[in-house]
Amino acid sequence: MNRAFNDRESQKILDIIKNFARKNSLFILAYGTGCGAIEIPPTITSRYDAERFGIRGAATPRQADVLLITGYLSVKTLKRVIRAYEQMQDPKYVMGFGSCTINGGMYWDSYNTIKQLDKYIPVDVYINGCMPRPEAVIAGFVKLQQLIQQGKALGWKHYKENLEWYRQNQQKVIKNWRMPDYNW
Ligand code: SF4
Repeated sequence: MNRAFNDRESQKILDIIKNFARKNSLFILAYGTGCGAIEIPPTITSRYDAERFGIRGAATPRQADVLLITGYLSVKTLKRVIRAYEQMQDPKYVMGFGSCTINGGMYWDSYNTIKQLDKYIPVDVYINGCMPRPEAVIAGFVKLQQLIQQGKALGWKHYKENLEWYRQNQQKVIKNWRMPDYNW
């Protein structure tokens, strides 16, 4: 017997299809802030072949879905990372590589690095280790894909809804704040 879908059911099916497409086509912008960046070339080239999972590089923030922060971040670099993140189109995702993005890592008492990335931009997946191997990086991507499929990779929404909180944290450490407004 045929049964017409109601609006809610149709929306749910549409979301499943959209999320399936999103998770299988991830264009990454790798911001090589720290030593973890050295694990990106083997991850995306023939040895570990991340393209099997639909993962490949993007040339600019406006063409990227995933921002990779590959290690420690100086305050000076944080400003550029925020600018890059805000130029990306929604939905967008962030992955933090290595202990330095989680708790400062070996730079925990440095005067000029940030200690917890998700106080400044929303992080969907952290990959721990110092530095994480390509296997761990790929496992991080698989986790991100699962979250996207489940509709749970919502850092980009969290950023919009809590922009004031993020701005306060960002401006606390970036003293020479002169940036264009985040304009959706
Ligand atoms: S976690 Fe280790 S490998 Fe990664 S940026 Fe920090 S010190 Fe370098």
